[in-house]
Amino acid sequence: MTLVICVVSRGRSNGKTCLIEALTKKFVGEEFRVATVKCIHIDFDTAKKDTWLHLKTGATVTAAITPTEIITIRRSKAPLLDEALGAIYFEADLVLVEGYEKSPYPKILYTDTALAALAAMKNISNIVMISGSIVSKAKEREMFTAKFPEIRVYDLEEMVSAIKEMLVKKVLRSLPGLNCGHCGHDTCLGLAEAILSREANREDCEVLSTNLATLEVDGIVIPLGKFPQQILRGVTMGVLNNLKGVDKHLKKIKLTIKTE
Ligand code: SF4
Repeated sequence: MTLVICVVSRGRSNGKTCLIEALTKKFVGEEFRVATVKCIHIDFDTAKKDTWLHLKTGATVTAAITPTEIITIRRSKAPLLDEALGAIYFEADLVLVEGYEKSPYPKILYTDTALAALAAMKNISNIVMISGSIVSKAKEREMFTAKFPEIRVYDLEEMVSAIKEMLVKKVLRSLPGLNCGHCGHDTCLGLAEAILSREANREDCEVLSTNLATLEVDGIVIPLGKFPQQILRGVTMGVLNNLKGVDKHLKKIKLTIKTE
């Protein structure tokens, strides 16, 4: 359940890197697991160096070990952002990507003026927040929000709060949404918040972890609490145990019921 956010701007801007630095410090400071991605336009590995020669032999990946770093290098003809995201070796809560304005991921636009922001809105998809020196320019902010009232212009603290809300929503979407309270939280939102603060795991959702029976209605999986799962399983097993020819060691049952 990783949230990927791209920080973009029109043209080259140091502001993107500074914003990623500031956001990373904030989230790491609160013990979120953060990864960052940056496109650097030139090859990192140097021709004829040992790592370059290792990869030239056809090795898929070469790891270079320095006194304080492990750098893995993988050749790719046309590296894509998703390939880079797949190469991140731990499950990050948040990945901050510098650039990649054509990606489908939500984006923070770093900008100094309303005009630049308005132009960017025409060309860049899925901009969800605005940042940059525009934040301290009241007239520029007003000019932008008059056209796009649904997109907020945030300072750093407001942005951190907004990203935390996005993180909670992301975890919440992976839970059944029954609000049954069997995980010890009144609502799924409570468990989602606890998962993000490392006080709980997804497995604490009894509906997901019971895993005794699943129900699909017209192709849509219906989340079932522990009790309905036990009932469905008990009734079905009771019927099957009385049928001839059913293997006593059966492992999985598929039952389809027609309603007409
Ligand atoms: S047990 Fe699962 S479905 Fe029930 S409230 Fe907790 S997270 Fe939601």
